[in-house]
Amino acid sequence: MIDSFNYLLKVIVIGDSGVGKTNLLLRFVNHTFSNDLKSTIGVQFFTKVISIKNEHIKLQLWDTAGQERYRSISNSYYKGSHGVIICFDLTHQESLDNVVKWYEEVKQQADFNVKIILIGNKLDLSQQRVVGSDTAQQVAKQIGAGYIETSALTSQNVDKAFELLIQEIHMQLK
Ligand code: GDP
Repeated sequence: MIDSFNYLLKVIVIGDSGVGKTNLLLRFVNHTFSNDLKSTIGVQFFTKVISIKNEHIKLQLWDTAGQERYRSISNSYYKGSHGVIICFDLTHQESLDNVVKWYEEVKQQADFNVKIILIGNKLDLSQQRVVGSDTAQQVAKQIGAGYIETSALTSQNVDKAFELLIQEIHMQLK
């Protein structure tokens, strides 16, 4: 059966507007990238089936679809999520400063044992980079999350980021 799977996991992506959340999802799911995503606003989630140790895992990957712009993400977005990707932009300090606020929201809205990963995106823009790895690592530690730097543009570390999170969730299911 094509659509048979052992687990269905919900993973949500949050973080400031413009950090690259939709493009990370597009890269991971469709292997595509777009500079102008206005038309995708309203898309609620993507699905992808992956395999870990002979088990098929169906991922439901939720995109904020623009809701984050007004910090008005609905409770249902967080509900039942197994994993959270908190994303910031390596070229934009404020987006890292806001990570702790996003984490507070996760703590309030999501299940207590939800797994979190922190992604610093736009790794390709090395000239414009303002956030150092050490600083970001410290924030990750503070919120109890793993940390990885990605580029949705070049696809560097994108699969790895999702795999890290999913493996962590998968271990907990055992
Ligand atoms: P969202 O608002 O967090 O969903 O961010 P988007 O995915 O819409 O991306 C916002 C802008 O950043 C768009 O112009 C993207 O083309 C750009 N962008 C996203 N990811 C990257 C990346 O890894 N590198 C570069 N150079 N630009 C990116």
